[in-house]
Amino acid sequence: MATASGFDCSKCPGYCCTYPRIVISLKDLTRIARHFEISEDEARRQFTKPYKDQGMDEIVLKHQRDSIYASVCRFFDTAARRCTIYKARPKVCRNYPHGKRCGYYEFLQFERDQQDDPDFIPSA
Ligand code: SF4
Ligand code: SF4
Repeated sequence: MATASGFDCSKCPGYCCTYPRIVISLKDLTRIARHFEISEDEARRQFTKPYKDQGMDEIVLKHQRDSIYASVCRFFDTAARRCTIYKARPKVCRNYPHGKRCGYYEFLQFERDQQDDPDFIPSA
């Protein structure tokens, strides 16, 4: 299904969910804790880890192993290739890719056309 935005996440193996820095705000943490009906402290312990790099001091989502991209967000369903907390997902996920185009999706479509294979997944 083509979308008005020009990309279709349902046809993508979830590349953006592999970013190592999926930043969580306190508001995101509250929403996720409520989603699982646990405390914010428990949600922070279970689902997040500190991220310190080049002066940044943030909280990011933990990852899990993935057969396609090596590692992906711990909330990603690696078989169905979709987010398992879609309604409670962090703001950074809601905002991505910040416009009507997704560079990875365009790359994916280009490679699938070249290979004449609608399921082809190029290494990123
Ligand atoms: S990389 Fe682009 S097309 Fe793929 S899931 Fe993310 S936003 Fe959607
Ligand atoms: S919370 Fe959902 S949308 Fe955000 S990175 Fe994780 S799996 Fe992807």
